[in-house]
Amino acid sequence: MRDRDIDNKIGWHFDNTYARLSEKILTKIKPTSVKKPKLIIINEKLCRNLGLNFSNINNDLIASIFSGNQLPQNSECIAQAYAGHQFGHFTVLGDGRAIVLGEHVTKDNKRFDIQFKGSGKTPYSRQGDGRAALGPMLREYIISEAMNGLKIPTTRSLAVVTTGETVMREESLKGAILTRIASSHIRVGTFQYVSLSGDKDAFNSLLNYTINRHYPEVKNSNNPALELLKIVINKQSDLVTNWMRVGFIHGVMNTDNMTVSGESIDYGPCAFMDSYNLKTVFSSIDLQGRYAYGNQPLITKWNLARFAETLLPYIDKNKDKAIKIATDTVNEFDSIYEKKWLNMMKSKLGLIGSNDEDKKIISDFLTWMENNKADYTNTFLFLLNDDFKNNKIFEKETFINWYKKWRKRVDGKSKDLMRETNPNLIPRNYIVEKVLKAAENNDLNPFNSFLEILQKPYEDHVNIKDYQAPATNTDDYKTFCGT
Ligand code: AMP
Ligand code: MG
Repeated sequence: MRDRDIDNKIGWHFDNTYARLSEKILTKIKPTSVKKPKLIIINEKLCRNLGLNFSNINNDLIASIFSGNQLPQNSECIAQAYAGHQFGHFTVLGDGRAIVLGEHVTKDNKRFDIQFKGSGKTPYSRQGDGRAALGPMLREYIISEAMNGLKIPTTRSLAVVTTGETVMREESLKGAILTRIASSHIRVGTFQYVSLSGDKDAFNSLLNYTINRHYPEVKNSNNPALELLKIVINKQSDLVTNWMRVGFIHGVMNTDNMTVSGESIDYGPCAFMDSYNLKTVFSSIDLQGRYAYGNQPLITKWNLARFAETLLPYIDKNKDKAIKIATDTVNEFDSIYEKKWLNMMKSKLGLIGSNDEDKKIISDFLTWMENNKADYTNTFLFLLNDDFKNNKIFEKETFINWYKKWRKRVDGKSKDLMRETNPNLIPRNYIVEKVLKAAENNDLNPFNSFLEILQKPYEDHVNIKDYQAPATNTDDYKTFCGT
C-alpha cells in the first residue's frame, strides 16, 4: 500500500499552522529513526474521538508510525523553542526531546497537536539525549488519561512504542516514545522566549496566532492582549482548583510547563496526595517545597505574572500604565481562585446554596484531616457513602462534633453533588509504580486493568477496594523529572 493510501485509511487530516510561524521560534526537524519499534499501547477510544482508525493497520506499521520511522505524508515536523522559569530561575529551553508532527483537524473542526516525546535530539537538547524510557512514558500515559477521567483539562496520550534501543539513566532502560496530543503546546514560556528575543514581529504573530487558535472571541476587543491575560488567568485558576480538588501535585510548575490553553501538561514528577497535608511534596528535586500541594495556587499566580510581563507592551503603550493594569489584573487571581476553591470544596462536601458557616465547616474539616493524617480521597468517600466502619479515627470526638454540624447542613441532593465531585479512586502512587513495573517486565495486564477504571473514576465499580487503599508508608515516595 502506498503511504498516501495508508494515511487515508487511518484518517489523518493535517493542517499545520504553527509551522508557518517565524523560524525564530521553531526548528524544522524530523524524529531520529529508531532500531526496532514495537507497539506497547494505543488509545483506541481517543483514536476514535479524533477520527483516526488503526484497526486495519498491522502492529508493525503502527509501531513504525508512532516511532517516527514512517511519518504521515502531510506532517511537518518541528521542535518548538521556549524559555521558562525553572524553580524561579529563568532559562532558555525548547523541545529537547519532543517533536510536533503537525496539527490533526477532526471532522468537527477541533485542532490537536500530535507530538512525539522521546524522539531524538533537537537543537534544544542541551546535555540531554533526546530520548525517553518506557516507564516514564507509560506513567505520563496513565496519569494523563486518569486526569481526563477526573474531568480535568489535560494533554492526552495516544500511543507508546518501544524503540528497540536502550537509554542510559542511572541504569540501562528500554527506550520509548509517547505520542501525546494537546490543543496546542503554546506555553507561558513560549511567550517568554519571544519576548526575550525583542523581535516585535515574532511576538505579534505569536500573540495573534494564540488568540486565533484558542480564544478568537477576544480578537476584536479593544485590548486583545489584556483579554487574553484575563482568559488565561481564568483557565489556570480553574485548572489549579481542579488539581486541588483531587489532590494532584504537578511537581514541576515551571513557566515552560504552563499552557495558555489551560490544559495540564508534562507529567514528570507529578503524584497524588494520600493523607491531607498542604506541605506534601513528592519530587526529589523540590527541596524547598516550592511546588508543594498547598503552594500550587500561589505558583499559578506567580507564573501568570510572568505571562503578564511579556504582554505589557501590548496592554498599553505607556509602560507605567501597562504595569498598573497588568498588576491589578493578575492580583484579581486571588479572589477568582478563592471563589472557585470555595465552590469546589462546597461541592466536595455537598454544601448546596450558601450559609455563613460554610467556610468554617470546610476549614474545620480540612484541619481535622490534617491533624489526623486522614486520607484525602477516601475521607470524602466515607462521608459520601456513610461508611465509617473499621476506621478508628471516626470514633474521635473531634470528628463526631464536626460530623453533627455537617449532617445538619446537607440535604437530599448533597450526595449527587458529592458524587460528581469526589472520585472513587485516584492513581495511587504505589499502584502506579506496581503496574509500571509489571509493564516494564512485559506484563501489561495490571496497567490496562488499572487504566480502565481510572478512565471512569466517578462511576461505581465492583471490586475496586484494592485500588482505593492508601499506601501503608508514603513517607519515602519520591518522583523524578525528565527521565
Ligand atoms: P521537563 O522537566 O520535562 O519539562 O523538561 C525540561 C526541559 O528539559 C525541556 O526543554 C525538555 O525538552 C528537556 N529535556 C528533558 N529530558 C530531556 C532529554 N532526555 N533530552 C533532551 N532534553 C530533555
Ligand atoms: Mg516541560
